[in-house]
Amino acid sequence: MSLHLLQTKLSGTMTVRDDPEYEAIRSTLTFNARKPPHHPLAIIHVDHVQDIVETVTFARSQNLKISVRGGGHHWSGVAIQDDSLLIDLSRLNQISIDPDKRIAWVQPLVTNRELARHLASHHLAFPTGHCPDVTLSGYLLGGGFGWNGGSWGVACWNVMAVEVVTPDGDLITASENENREWFWAARGGGPSFFGVVTKYLLKLYPLPSHIFTSTLVYPLESLPSLVNWLNTTTQNLPRNVETTLLLTTIPDSSTGATTKRCILSATVFADSKSEVEHALKPFARCDVDHQVMQDLLAPTPFETLFATIDRAFPAGKRYAVDTIWSAASPTEVFSLTAEHFRQAPSEHSLILALLLPPRPRDAPPMIDAAFSLVAPLFVAHYAIWDNEEDDRTNLDWSRALAQDLEHYCVGHYVGESDIVDSPTRLERSFSTNAWKRLQELRRKYDPRGIFDC
Ligand SMILES: Cc1cc2nc3c(=O)[nH]c(=O)nc-3n(C[C@H](O)[C@H](O)[C@H](O)COP(=O)(O)OP(=O)(O)OC[C@H]3O[C@@H](n4cnc5c(N)ncnc54)[C@H](O)[C@@H]3O)c2cc1C
Repeated sequence: MSLHLLQTKLSGTMTVRDDPEYEAIRSTLTFNARKPPHHPLAIIHVDHVQDIVETVTFARSQNLKISVRGGGHHWSGVAIQDDSLLIDLSRLNQISIDPDKRIAWVQPLVTNRELARHLASHHLAFPTGHCPDVTLSGYLLGGGFGWNGGSWGVACWNVMAVEVVTPDGDLITASENENREWFWAARGGGPSFFGVVTKYLLKLYPLPSHIFTSTLVYPLESLPSLVNWLNTTTQNLPRNVETTLLLTTIPDSSTGATTKRCILSATVFADSKSEVEHALKPFARCDVDHQVMQDLLAPTPFETLFATIDRAFPAGKRYAVDTIWSAASPTEVFSLTAEHFRQAPSEHSLILALLLPPRPRDAPPMIDAAFSLVAPLFVAHYAIWDNEEDDRTNLDWSRALAQDLEHYCVGHYVGESDIVDSPTRLERSFSTNAWKRLQELRRKYDPRGIFDC
């Protein structure tokens, strides 16, 4: 096998293990500072789609595996696989918007912020992810829980077509009308997908003119009452209100000491001030005792939303992240999570929950796609710390919480689960039927397992 033969066919750059810069490049591939202990044979920064075709064709001829790296934001570091040819898509970041048709073709490495900014200049929007620098690549492929998802749906439901390099090295387009099995798998397959997505065609929405947020802060001791109140309140909220409950540790403004708090925030994506006031009225009237602070009806355009979330997940930290979908009583689930949260060894760690409003009786069934698992309650826990010597303590905390949550868990979200260290997470991110179909399609289209990482 001569990797140099591949290099001669590429216009992008290839770095192999013997190259002096290999380790430095490998260490920049993931957002999480806790780097995966895996070493691809070569890291290939592709310049354009033909480089991907050449790499896949070469891998097939040499019986090698391919791993695909979008923005490297999957917390688990799944993109970095031993002995693979790693295709790094970071140079593919073009956007092409057709404002009249309200569609856009985007390359994988466009970030949430870049997309939102470009769309805003046309008064358009998309359910981008919550953090500004996460790229669409893996976000869309794994499903995508983005802003105003209650109204606009899961991001992958708004993917109208994909362009894919297949394990045979062919470049195909897949949509409802052609290559439908590929289209089915690309909407939610995540790391189980068996090709390289080089472009997504997105359905766009008019940009809501009024995006406002109300925030309520409580001591951790008020969590049970707050959850009860929230559980009732979310039943009647319009679907364009996104409600998040965050358990976090913040400095007390008077003493400077840190305190564990629950922060409830509700953002509405509306078209008038009166719609905003009506939608967020329940939060102004929240009668749960011991409120520490409230900030009602604050204007929060996308840029502000991004900035707020970005502060919670700084670059350079070490992360261990896991998620569950649950259909259990939120009161029980939160009583358990609060107990664990009190014991968190790091003050940077967070627990975040979404209580989804019930689907209206007349809502259409879920779109038939690989993305196939949701439940009324989503809980994500983020162990966040600074130093390698604290890995053991923080990982133990994260895994103990994950293990206790198992009791309430009906599945996981592939985009934010510990799919590398807990391999069952991957399968349990799909409905039984969807997982079975995904495996059948993998065997059909990638019989040699080029993308089996
Ligand atoms: C700070 C932060 C905030 C986040 N916020 C959200 C959020 O609000 N909502 C949400 O839903 N998720 C969120 N996530 C999770 C994130 O969307 C997923 O982890 C997603 O996979 C990241 O995309 P990526 O391109 O960086 O993936 P990578 O880490 O680069 O890749 C992960 C895997 O996805 C596959 N893959 C990625 N791109 C392609 C492609 N083009 N073709 C084929 N396979 C591909 C590969 O198998 C790869 O191993 C967040 C993550 C972080 C770190």
